[in-house]
Amino acid sequence: MQIVLLGPPGAGKGTQAVKICAQYHIPHISTGDMLRQQVASGSPLGNKVKSILDSGELVTDDIIMQVVEARLSQSDCRNGFLLDGIPRTVGQAQSLTTLLLKMGAAKLNVLQINVPDAILLERIEARQGQSSRSDDTAEVAAKRLKVYWEQTAPVANYYEQVGNLVKIDGVGAVDEVFNRITTALGT
Ligand code: AMP
Repeated sequence: MQIVLLGPPGAGKGTQAVKICAQYHIPHISTGDMLRQQVASGSPLGNKVKSILDSGELVTDDIIMQVVEARLSQSDCRNGFLLDGIPRTVGQAQSLTTLLLKMGAAKLNVLQINVPDAILLERIEARQGQSSRSDDTAEVAAKRLKVYWEQTAPVANYYEQVGNLVKIDGVGAVDEVFNRITTALGT
């Protein structure tokens, strides 16, 4: 099972990702988590991307594709994976298509979790204070949403044209949304 989870910040991607990965026994590959680990470890890559993460802007496509290619080449990805947080731009989506072809990967299931902006902002605000993430402030949250609509929303159009986008209603209880996902995946 090879899955890409798309959706704006606050859509519940992280929560659903954990449940999906447990159900299908696949690794959860979160580019945001990987970058935060690099920042925490003080690696050269971490030092380079820290200020970008704190601003809510995107790391360059080149950097992120290197990180994800290295991760997907690990043996635990052989029988599937879930990508959370990538692709964030149409350029990344195109590079990912090329990479997966090279890896001989089977059909990709692209799930887009949709939640209206007003609910997203409520959820992001509620997350503030509970979170240790340095990019969980109101100002950065608004910036991340803006970046999403400008740069990431077109990724859904890319997959729609390719023909493998499935839209999931992300409003409702966690288990309700999860049931919609497993139904969409046909299992
Ligand atoms: P996330 O946890 O997915 O919201 O990601 C946190 C931050 O990491 C984002 O605001 C970006 O600065 C950076 N990031 C994560 N994934 C990507 C990506 N695929 N492309 C560019 N930047 C990314």
